[in-house]
Amino acid sequence: MRSMQPSGISPPRAEDAPSDGVSCASPFRTGGADEAKSAAAVLSIDLAAVAANYRLLRGRLAPGAVCGAVLKADAYGLGATRVAPVLAAEGARSFFVAHLEEALSLRRILTSARIAVLNGAMPGTEPEFVRYDVLPVLNDLGAVERWSALARDLGRRLPALLQLDTGMARVGLTADEVARLAEQPDRLSGIKLTHIMSHYACADEPDHPLNGEQRARFDALRAQLPATPTSLANSAAIFLPPVYHGDLVRPGAALYGLNPRSNAPNPMNPAVTLHARILQLRDIPRGAPVGYGATYRAKRDTRVATLALGYADGYPWSLGNRGSVRIGSRRAPVIGRVSMDLVTVDVTEVPVEDCAPGSFAEVIGPDHPVDSVAAEAGTIGYEILTRLGHRFHRVYRTDST
Ligand SMILES: *Cc1c(COP(=O)(O)O)cnc(C)c1O
Repeated sequence: MRSMQPSGISPPRAEDAPSDGVSCASPFRTGGADEAKSAAAVLSIDLAAVAANYRLLRGRLAPGAVCGAVLKADAYGLGATRVAPVLAAEGARSFFVAHLEEALSLRRILTSARIAVLNGAMPGTEPEFVRYDVLPVLNDLGAVERWSALARDLGRRLPALLQLDTGMARVGLTADEVARLAEQPDRLSGIKLTHIMSHYACADEPDHPLNGEQRARFDALRAQLPATPTSLANSAAIFLPPVYHGDLVRPGAALYGLNPRSNAPNPMNPAVTLHARILQLRDIPRGAPVGYGATYRAKRDTRVATLALGYADGYPWSLGNRGSVRIGSRRAPVIGRVSMDLVTVDVTEVPVEDCAPGSFAEVIGPDHPVDSVAAEAGTIGYEILTRLGHRFHRVYRTDST
């Protein structure tokens, strides 16, 4: 199999061939749609891989522990409304987002699931949470007070999660706040705590001492509060021993194929491929400049392919003169700066038959996964995924793995 073709993708049908008749690898499953024929770049999302990743993560949990899912930032760019039903079908019942607005759009398709907002309720928005049956994560005593007051007003118990800061200094109750809650338990009146939660800073480094310290701090704080189920683990922490997990885990990244561990092979199934069309090819002589600022000069006679992709599509500007794509089985380095809508790559080494106007370069795929693109760009896979643009032709696949 030619490595350019994502697994399970059939060769293009005749009508997919570009007008000059040159055949090329295609990220499309089937031809036909006009939009697909003219697409400049194709983002293919493998929902079956997301489902398989959910099962893989759940399989790591101790008996009785429950696997939720984090769908914030539009399911890390993959499309929350497409991902959520797939996870629900796998049995996921607890979903996490960052903002109320994200929860409301999920609520339309997940009518019975538990949806929690990690950032909590902005003051004054609490009634919306009740109206749409969305749980806030209570991150400070003020939030506890407002949720309790609303419960009193409505004359019913309102569910919420309580987050404790165990070492990230970001969100969650401080040790002092927990002590005040312990002294004045009435502050929690009317609140039905579903989980007490926290978040690890260094779970992707299994040997980092902060993991154990946070775990111990969590137990010490929790002991001051009413007995409540716990929620601790993100993707990376699911790869720590089960004692680090708590009763409900909250994976995001690993569901979407990112490597949850920093120094180990990726156990997850890749869920995203991105292919960008070659718009033009040209041969330039040694010494000729490429792109804005003339930051690249050809080191030899060079064949340049211009791809229909740019920083407006979330392809990082920092990849100028640093990134690479795959064409056929070859690596084609980015030369020159990344433009808003265009990227130039050196295809001198790429066989001519793999490289024609209208054919596709693999930007993210089996030979160059999201985490590698991120490493080239000096960022993390999370940022690459969540910034993926909105003008790709999107293909959702449901039939692999
Ligand atoms: C984003 C987030 C997660 C998911 O983290 P991943 O590393 O993507 O698995 C879990 N919990 C909290 C509080 C988060 O903010």
